[in-house]
Formats: sequence, structure tokens, C-alpha cells
Amino acid sequence: MTIHLCPIKFSNAALLERVTEALLHRYSVVPLELGIELDSVFSKERGQYYSTQIIADAVEHANPLDGKLLILVEVDLFIPVFTFIFGEAQLRGPVALVSVCRLHEEFYTGRTNDNLLFERTMKEILHELGHTFGLVHCKSWDCVMHASASVEEIDIKGGGFCEECEKRTLH
Ligand SMILES: [Zn+2]
Ligand SMILES: [Zn+2]
Repeated sequence: MTIHLCPIKFSNAALLERVTEALLHRYSVVPLELGIELDSVFSKERGQYYSTQIIADAVEHANPLDGKLLILVEVDLFIPVFTFIFGEAQLRGPVALVSVCRLHEEFYTGRTNDNLLFERTMKEILHELGHTFGLVHCKSWDCVMHASASVEEIDIKGGGFCEECEKRTLH
């Protein structure tokens, strides 16, 4: 499986490097630059970016690709029914999107923790990629496919797929 890794306006090069290295344990990784414009999906009322619209814009770029398109952003994402989201993906589709905005420990406590940021980012990436493989949310807290409504719930859940979900990623 090839993951086309597309950071948009992503300033944290060290994190990107660690993420790429970690993904390489499971997948082929191809860096990709896309001309996706974030300004057009910014909501002035909410001060956030409309996740579903970013994915819609990405689909045309993703369709000719072999594998998945993983978009990483630092801006805060929303969909209308939630105050924020960590990421979004197309179920059994090519596009996954993850924001690291609310994965930063300093967002909550003011303290920087690069390792925690990396762990949270990897969990959310594997979670959203899992959706693109057709996985739905899993009841097991050991499993990265467990749903997370808060950063505490990301920290509690496991960092890998449970046995059942792992099997399903192979189809
Ligand atoms: Zn999910
Ligand atoms: Zn699972």
C-alpha cells in the first residue's frame, strides 16, 4: 500500500520526518505537493477550516493515484455538527485528513511535549487511514479505531489496530 503524504502549510518539519519514518514501517510513503487552497474553506464565523470541503477538493487529485492520499494540516478543522474534529476520511475511499492543531499539549496546558504530539498524530493518522481501508469505529480501547472526542481519549486508546481491525486492513 502506498501513502501519498501531502502536508499543506505544515511548518513542523521534525514532526513530519518522524511521521514519515513511522509510516514507512507499514507502508510505502511518497511525498506529494498539491495545489490545494485552504483559504477558500475558512469560516470567518468559526475561525476554523471546513474539513469536508478540503477532502472534496482533494478527491480529484487522489483519484489518479495508486494508494491513499493523506493530508496533514496544522489549522483547526470543523464540520458543521461538531465544535471541532481531529480528522476526517472517506470510508473505503482514497482521502484521509488529519489536523495536529488540537494534538499539541500546549493547546491545553501550555507545555510543549514533542513525543506526545508525535504519538497523538500517529494514532490519528492510523485511525483516519483505517477508515479509508473500510474500518469503522471499534469498541476496544486497545485499538486505534476507537473513536476519540477529546485528546484524553486519544491518549487512553492503543496506538495500533486490534487483531480484528488489523485483519480488515488487509482486504
Ligand atoms: Zn473515526
Ligand atoms: Zn479494532
